[in-house]
Amino acid sequence: MERPNAWKSYDEEQLKQLEELCSDYRRFLDEGKTERECVKLTVSMAEAAGYKNLTDVIRDKQTLKAGDKVYATCMDKTAVLFHIGTKDLEEGMNILGAHIDSPRLDVKQNPLYEEADFAYLDTHYYGGVKKYQWVALPLAIHGVVAKKNGETVDILIGEAETDPVISITDLLPHLAGKQMEKRASTVIEGEKMDVLIGSRPVEGEEKNAVKASVLKLLNEKYGIEEEDFLSAELEIVPAGKARDTGLDRSMIMSYGQDDRVCAFTSLKAILDMEQVERTACCILVDKEEIGSVGATGMESKFFENMVAELLDRTGEYSELKLRRCLANSRMLSSDVNAAYDPLYADAYEAKNASYLGRGMVFSKFTGARGKSGSNDANAEYIAHIRNIFDDEKIHYQFAELGKVDVGGGGTIAYILALYGMEVIDCGVAVLNMHAPWEITSKADVYETKKGYEVFLKRA
Ligand code: MN
Ligand code: MN
Repeated sequence: MERPNAWKSYDEEQLKQLEELCSDYRRFLDEGKTERECVKLTVSMAEAAGYKNLTDVIRDKQTLKAGDKVYATCMDKTAVLFHIGTKDLEEGMNILGAHIDSPRLDVKQNPLYEEADFAYLDTHYYGGVKKYQWVALPLAIHGVVAKKNGETVDILIGEAETDPVISITDLLPHLAGKQMEKRASTVIEGEKMDVLIGSRPVEGEEKNAVKASVLKLLNEKYGIEEEDFLSAELEIVPAGKARDTGLDRSMIMSYGQDDRVCAFTSLKAILDMEQVERTACCILVDKEEIGSVGATGMESKFFENMVAELLDRTGEYSELKLRRCLANSRMLSSDVNAAYDPLYADAYEAKNASYLGRGMVFSKFTGARGKSGSNDANAEYIAHIRNIFDDEKIHYQFAELGKVDVGGGGTIAYILALYGMEVIDCGVAVLNMHAPWEITSKADVYETKKGYEVFLKRA
């Protein structure tokens, strides 16, 4: 069942909307390169759209009713938004979920050292990366340093035109005979992913004068000391902005589109809702790339706790109503899919692959080696969604991630499914997934945002 290319269906007005949405999207990608930055952006966009902080609502003992909009955050790394509908919460919500963490290099807790008049930051990579893709590239540092006095300092180096960048070095081809014989998985080793951050010794120091110079700069600019790395969260990401891609500008290349392409479109969709019958919800979570664990991952009780608070503020809280609200909910668990790449056709099964430009991607199941570990969406639920999407003329396709016994991957779908709610995996097709620079189609960004709106309104 080949699906049509969405580009062929657009009129002038739709093309204008598509470009506007994608220029917002590029800005979101540039300003939200880490989960903390995404949460900050989410809060400012939500407040501009009339959302109130649920913590304030609770503190001030305010009550909530249909039409009210609230958000909550957890440790500045996870956010949830609710737009209360006219139907009882007990009847369930329509939930959009995506993750805002992306593969990257995290700075270790004891990171700084000097060798041969170079200063380095030692890293531990986060998520699934092909390590050889991360060398000889301009990189930036994003993150925070929490100081003992209670202050948290924001760090951002490498993004402004006038900023310096940092980089991991690689061996020149002339000397790489031995290196080139290694397997791609070991050609760059994890412990060799140390980032070069300086080479100029400070005056008046005999030993480690380059390291001392870097520390002096950090102290002058941010007021931090070497020990402060112990309580820092510093993420090394590719430096630079999202760009239009292709001579026809049909695509976008950027760092972190897994899964900010779904986070952005979900967020835009809920913020654009005027009124809803079933309560609309958008969850943007951290730690998906390392198994959804921890206080800010999907496995955390944070989401359930916030739904309980929401019920309480509407005067409807009971343990049973909370269970019913969750069980009666419907969810789109949104994450990127591996777009069919003709250069690597071998890895895909063409009939069941996702294609750039053919719209939002649904996956009945994910998992690997016999669907292992997957949520498997209910056929009746899929029929319900197909009906709405066809009715609203949204472009969509159904796909698996790679061919049987090759592909597979986990998402947050199975965690929400534990409540007994209807959940299906969906998202956007991406080329170069998990590479420093990933590629999406503008048409898919546009269709997905429209699809999410239709889901919130009608599912
Ligand atoms: Mn991923
Ligand atoms: Mn993902």
